[in-house]
Amino acid sequence: MLYSNLSVNDQGHLSIADIDACELAKAYGTPLYVLDEDRVREKCRTYVEAMRTYLPQGSQPLYAGKALCFKGIYPVIESEGLGADVVSAGEVATALAAGFPAKDLYFHGTNKTDAEIAYGVEQGVGCFVVDNLNELEVLSREAQAHGIVQRVLLRITVGLDPHTLAAINTGRVDSQFGVPIETGQAARFVDIALKTSNIDVIGFHSHIGSQIFEATSFCDQVDRLLSFACSVRDELGFVASTFNLGGGFAVPYVEGDEKIDIAANIAAIAQHLQEGCERAGYPLPRVLMEPGRSIVADAGVTLYSAGGIKEVEGYRNYVTVDGGMTDNPRYALYKSAYTILNASRANEPADYECTVAGRCCESGDRLAEDIRIAKPTRGDIIAVLTTGAYNYAMSSNYNRVLRPALVMLSHGEARLAVRRQTIEDLLSLEM
Ligand SMILES: *Cc1c(COP(=O)(O)O)cnc(C)c1O
Repeated sequence: MLYSNLSVNDQGHLSIADIDACELAKAYGTPLYVLDEDRVREKCRTYVEAMRTYLPQGSQPLYAGKALCFKGIYPVIESEGLGADVVSAGEVATALAAGFPAKDLYFHGTNKTDAEIAYGVEQGVGCFVVDNLNELEVLSREAQAHGIVQRVLLRITVGLDPHTLAAINTGRVDSQFGVPIETGQAARFVDIALKTSNIDVIGFHSHIGSQIFEATSFCDQVDRLLSFACSVRDELGFVASTFNLGGGFAVPYVEGDEKIDIAANIAAIAQHLQEGCERAGYPLPRVLMEPGRSIVADAGVTLYSAGGIKEVEGYRNYVTVDGGMTDNPRYALYKSAYTILNASRANEPADYECTVAGRCCESGDRLAEDIRIAKPTRGDIIAVLTTGAYNYAMSSNYNRVLRPALVMLSHGEARLAVRRQTIEDLLSLEM
């Protein structure tokens, strides 16, 4: 199996963290998001321990809530010692509703509205990651109105092109995220921010993209950020205490994908930063990282029931499931590869070539094409692995399909964390 928490039990069913996937499907219905909390905790610990070991005191991982945001995740990450990166009033409110401390929130977003900025300041969000000058102005005004000095990081675009999909690459100069170094605008951004009232600049943020396999990309990022920091020091006399390197560590989705050693990568980044700082005579900053995918992706499995099984003679076979792009739009968006298996026949040979299609009226509604699974019959439970990140978070009600429930598994027990959406929920917004 792709991950150590998956196995096949005596009934020949897929078992997730020692719980029978077919039993989960029976108890909670399908489609169903399943999240192995113990695995999430393991990932959190890997980050916390590696950052504590290799980086200066005060360094901390911040969980990027955009990967999977619901109340139940926040007590988990809080108890593991992570802060949180939030990108909207909705994410702020979700974290706060779960009792997460506002001071440990880092408020991101390329276009925070005036209302969101006011809300964040009011709620005592610990740090804003300011994306642009317009936002800085509004933030300063709000901070003044509340009689506080707001701590901020400035989002800088380092001009890197890591080898990942254009859709999830955010570090290039030509990007809507942050302010670029290359054009000289980032230096002016810092200069203005330092002179803006009620604003306390603690350092810089940069995020180069997602699903990145090479540690060298992060080392290049550190180099560019550091050389920028040095020129800012020389020209403006400002020394950053904090570098936030964003998220982006890749996760293996299919057999053959490289496995990333998170701790080893952090050690490499730390060594690189330390050497660079020594060379430049720059005081070693504390480092923040914002892992999203690598915390939750491989702790998640989505369970579906197989519906129609259609053999288009001379073409291909289709297995349709009771979800699809509404609960996981990533294949439709970027042809993301997934490992799919028949959880009801996990011990049978995976020799039935098929395309797994969703239930929407869109020919692009597919979860995978031309893969092999054990031949299903209607009602079999089909499992899609690695759906912890950017699935529930990206779900929609297209075709008025209801959002699935989410169960969390811990110590051999399952508990409902998000109930299934109902038709009443769906109609409740309409006059
Ligand atoms: C998306 C994003 C992250 C998380 O990225 P992952 O690839 O999920 O780790 C972190 N920080 C920022 C600013 C992001 O946009």
